[in-house]
Amino acid sequence: MEIYDNYSLKGLNTFGIDVKARRILFLRGSTLDEPFRFLYDVEELLKSDFREHPYMVIGEGSNLVFTKDYEGSLIKIGEAVFHGGDEGGYKYLTVGARMLTDEVVRLSVGYKYYGMENLSAIPGNIGAAVVQNVGAYGVELKDLVETVDAVDLLSGDQRSFSAAECAFGYRTSLFKQQAGRWLIWRVKLRFSKEFKPILTYKALADELQRRGIGDPSQQQVRDVVTELRWSKLPRPEEYGSAGSFFKNPVVDEATATALKKEYPDMPVYPGNKLSAGWLIDQCGWKGKTMGRAGVWPKQALVLYNTGGCSGEEVVVLARVVQEDVKRKFGVALDPEAIIV
Ligand SMILES: Cc1cc2nc3c(=O)[nH]c(=O)nc-3n(C[C@H](O)[C@H](O)[C@H](O)COP(=O)(O)OP(=O)(O)OC[C@H]3O[C@@H](n4cnc5c(N)ncnc54)[C@H](O)[C@@H]3O)c2cc1C
Repeated sequence: MEIYDNYSLKGLNTFGIDVKARRILFLRGSTLDEPFRFLYDVEELLKSDFREHPYMVIGEGSNLVFTKDYEGSLIKIGEAVFHGGDEGGYKYLTVGARMLTDEVVRLSVGYKYYGMENLSAIPGNIGAAVVQNVGAYGVELKDLVETVDAVDLLSGDQRSFSAAECAFGYRTSLFKQQAGRWLIWRVKLRFSKEFKPILTYKALADELQRRGIGDPSQQQVRDVVTELRWSKLPRPEEYGSAGSFFKNPVVDEATATALKKEYPDMPVYPGNKLSAGWLIDQCGWKGKTMGRAGVWPKQALVLYNTGGCSGEEVVVLARVVQEDVKRKFGVALDPEAIIV
């Protein structure tokens, strides 16, 4: 285990917030190829005094907003490899938790393992993708999870979770509900052997149609999803962000009906899910800035760092946006990003 004190996090969060961690612990050893080395480091970690201060596992920092220096220990796991295989009616990839989610999609497309292509180009690693049950373009990670292996940071026990035990929900899971308890180190994903494009997300279906692609291949779905995403989102190397800052709010049937009557153009998705981006846009926030934080001009759901922004500035902007949406529509917006 490598330990550093007073460690700059500027390069470890995609918002590019310039804060420090009191301590960061890098666990060595690839979680699949060198499990003994990895587990040795986990043992060393568990014997240390890390629980005496706040602590948190950190992935690629693409869903985090640090509002101040982190007064505890961050835990970061080592590089990851993968194993693939065919079992019964499905294909499987077992990947170390540090592997980037987009790298897993790239591998699945290379091997013609089907079902994950709609999740192309989501930043972050696969361990964190499980925590957040990442979703995009009509697919959520829960649709692919077979098992998740994690270490209980409170007791030191190891446990393998089935998908049902992960208690996945909209951008949540057991691991998010029990934040701080579990260190995910290995994820097994199940893929289909037969390609059936998932085109339930209208913008994806429309874009394929616009390009005259009637019967897309898996690679074409990946390419179009990737292009669509980056046409709307800030690229982390240019502007810092955590992607969608808010969750799409889910309201009751009566509220959805009343709002639709008053705002006939308002998108309402199945399950009375509203578009947070549309609500924010209607309040006039798209493209506006406050301090050094801004609302992304091409997608109002994204708050971004216009340059040198602090986490506090992001939180202040988020609060004002939440208040405006509440005042105009009576709808509460909850952050999807994790404010630390
Ligand atoms: C431009 C952009 C676009 C995005 N688009 C999407 C999108 O379309 N859909 C979507 O769902 N999200 C999206 N996101 C959000 C983000 O990419 C995901 O939430 C991602 O899974 C976070 O991964 P990470 O490795 O950066 O995790 P981090 O931000 O480092 O951590 C997130 C959480 O996971 C926990 N965690 C991390 N690793 C582990 C582990 N091994 N074990 C236990 N807990 C762990 C952390 O403690 C923290 O609570 C986007 C972000 C950006 C910047």
